[in-house]
Amino acid sequence: MTGEMIYYSLKDKELRVGFREAALQGITAGMGLFMPERIARPDSSFFRRLPQLSLPEIAVEIGSLYTGADIPQQVLREICERAFDFPVVIREIDQRKKVLELFHGPTAAFKDFGARFMAGCFGYFAERERKQTVVLVATSGDTGGAIASSFFGVEGVDVIILYPSGKVSRLQENQLTTCGRNITAIEVEGSFDDCQAMVRHVLAEPPPALPVRLTSANSINIARLIPQTFYYYYALGRCGGDTVLSVPSGNMGNITAAAMAWRSGLPMAHLVAATNSNRVLPRYLETGLFAPQPPVATIANAMDVGDPGNFERFCRVFDDEQGLIMKSVSGYWYDDEQIRQHIAAEYRRTGYILDPHGAVASLALDEYLESHPGMSGLFAATAHPAKFTDIVGPLTGGRVEMPETLARFADGVKSSVLMKPGAASLAGYLAGRYR
Ligand SMILES: *Cc1c(COP(=O)(O)O)cnc(C)c1O
Repeated sequence: MTGEMIYYSLKDKELRVGFREAALQGITAGMGLFMPERIARPDSSFFRRLPQLSLPEIAVEIGSLYTGADIPQQVLREICERAFDFPVVIREIDQRKKVLELFHGPTAAFKDFGARFMAGCFGYFAERERKQTVVLVATSGDTGGAIASSFFGVEGVDVIILYPSGKVSRLQENQLTTCGRNITAIEVEGSFDDCQAMVRHVLAEPPPALPVRLTSANSINIARLIPQTFYYYYALGRCGGDTVLSVPSGNMGNITAAAMAWRSGLPMAHLVAATNSNRVLPRYLETGLFAPQPPVATIANAMDVGDPGNFERFCRVFDDEQGLIMKSVSGYWYDDEQIRQHIAAEYRRTGYILDPHGAVASLALDEYLESHPGMSGLFAATAHPAKFTDIVGPLTGGRVEMPETLARFADGVKSSVLMKPGAASLAGYLAGRYR
């Protein structure tokens, strides 16, 4: 190891902390995102061994470059083995296209990877610290469920989840609102961006004298971003470096992780950013102009983000070289009708059932490959199609099988706190609850 990894604030380069502080603070008082000072570069023997390494083995090797002395190697090994105890599946769809199924975790979405790694770290930090930790998280759908499931029952940690009322699926809402114990769901009468703004503002300016440590668990938390790189090493190590990778993108955590893995030396042919009608990123990749918009509701609802929180980090991974970004990454976007048609068409053509988010990535990969004959690719499927039976069922003849882990959430008693948008409402709630 070549010295400890330092994390700096994107808003203030002088603000520098270690992994533990960056993870527990989540975001700086000046609303800056933490960024590792450099992309960790595994040694060359790592890439030679990569095709044989398991996901937990990859996680320990790459993870330790980022966590350094803040988590002892043996503890990190235990965290990774516990967090990544479910399979990552690579399936061939046709000769040129493979799918990377990231939805075999407990909540059937890729957010399990980040959430479970982070919960392991926070559990370890809480053991060593006396203060109650309160994790605030804004969700557009899947984050909250993954966080709730990952943190459920963790001693010394409360989790408070904000979600936009009426804008998440029934199953997603049940995952958030039926846990109880140390998990609280807050139903915000607004959009995901409202929820994210509330969390960011309260973390930046907590209510005075709150006797708890507030932290975040959004994809803005570096402890969730880092583990999302692990499965890209795993997948590209197995598929080969001439593979084009397509990532369905919303808040841009997942694609930033892919870019980090790439820039660390992982061979990859090209990166494709796929979005729904919220097309800020494809537009940037085409024009060079980053213009956040109000979010639009779509059937790929976990990607309904108008102002992607990880955009700055994404650029930083490429040393803010716009030319390099535009050369390395292509962006495509699709509306609901195109997504629906693709789910139906791929099912007819191959028998494979896509969820709306995976479908966006599959479409974008197809479009890129069409203009690049001779290349082949891999797209990330980020949620199990059974999470979206109301959309996917009618398009595939109702054949979507529900994984056992999801079936548990089909019923249960909903319990949530209704709240108006605005940081003041959340601050007031916290001040009342933790006196
Ligand atoms: C969160 C989410 C995304 C978007 O990932 P980002 O890291 O926010 O870009 C895509 N698909 C699903 C199913 C998700 O839950």
